[in-house]
Amino acid sequence: MDHESLIQESIKALEVQFQYYEKISQLNTEKVLKAFKKNNIALRHFNPSNGYGYDDTARDTLERLFSDIMGTEAAILRPQIASGTHALSLCLFGILKHGDNYISASGLPYDTLQTVMGINKEVEGSIKDLGVEYRQVDLIDNASLDIDKVCASIDEKTKLIMVQRSRGYASRRALLPSEIGKLAEAVKKIKPDVVFMVDNCYGEFVLEEEPSNYKCVDIVAGSLIKNPGGGIAPTGGYICGKEKYINRIATRLTSPGLGLELGSYEASYRPFYQGLFFAPHVVCQALKVATLMAEVFTRLGFRAIPGSKDMRSDIVQILELQDEAALVAFCRAVQASSPIDAFVVPEPWDMPGYDNQVIMAAGSFVAGSSIELSADAPIREPFHVYVQGGLTFEHGVYAIKNILKNLNI
Ligand SMILES: *Cc1c(COP(=O)(O)O)cnc(C)c1O
Repeated sequence: MDHESLIQESIKALEVQFQYYEKISQLNTEKVLKAFKKNNIALRHFNPSNGYGYDDTARDTLERLFSDIMGTEAAILRPQIASGTHALSLCLFGILKHGDNYISASGLPYDTLQTVMGINKEVEGSIKDLGVEYRQVDLIDNASLDIDKVCASIDEKTKLIMVQRSRGYASRRALLPSEIGKLAEAVKKIKPDVVFMVDNCYGEFVLEEEPSNYKCVDIVAGSLIKNPGGGIAPTGGYICGKEKYINRIATRLTSPGLGLELGSYEASYRPFYQGLFFAPHVVCQALKVATLMAEVFTRLGFRAIPGSKDMRSDIVQILELQDEAALVAFCRAVQASSPIDAFVVPEPWDMPGYDNQVIMAAGSFVAGSSIELSADAPIREPFHVYVQGGLTFEHGVYAIKNILKNLNI
């Protein structure tokens, strides 16, 4: 079958999935617009600020808007948060104190967080360096939360439980907000004052509900150059949740006594507002691209995780490409299909912190943004490429055509 027909047949076979994503996008768009209305968002909220940023209405309103969207008491959403890792790091350093212990309930956390925590190597200034003990409970069969084991790991010194919703760069499925909420409820029965934290990166707006909609979930964090930035936010991260924890974490972002009262932005918060407006739709586009990749590659005899008909809770798609040449050809085609840096030819390289060479494709308007179509692959068996993003479905289809051509399929 020629590529065009393969793609068109695949799209036809995904009618149910696409309609489902569109329904979620409709619901989430309405949720976002109602929050805009409730907060009386107006053009004056795009006025820049400078200096200390005292009484910056644009900043404060943006944070209230986001916390309404996420169903929380409070939120920090700022360009001064440099990345998702920084947001998660602020949560850990804001909550944990010397002598505490904390538990990761979803196995080994995302790579960059391991360094923050000081669990993969000795790192000066890490959480471990602070004198905080780390405990880990792996997923059952690399798939579901082990509620009994997490509960059994809690003692009087346990201050925080963390869960990662997305697969990140692990070959497991993404966890549903309902599963996370159920664990949160179970641990609060054992220890009501434990802080339950969720790494929500890549998960925002994929479903109608968020982990923050569960009352036992205390803090949720993520990146603005992923889902909630809608491809428009130029930088930043967010943390939302219960006010008392947000205030404590705010003392880490700025300093004790200053909290969220300071922080200016002369470039205007408009792209953050506009990004939130676009986010549900853009996430829907990214989900369609990921699901189409899964369908096309499954039809060609490759393994796709998740499968094209599987329930999703993040935007990441894994394709098992079977050899190094295919990984390289795939990533080069994604790069060559990008709006930016399409002339660049990616090469596998020794990325600091990785045991294997890694190849990456990212031709994005916002540097490193992975809500824009991007692909990365560690050069090792079973030759998994991680693909995510896509601001428009059309871009994804164009990339798939180029990938098929480049793979000589
Ligand atoms: C992207 C991501 C992070 C944070 O990464 P940054 O590159 O620092 O924004 C953390 N956890 C997961 C699961 C992620 O996908």
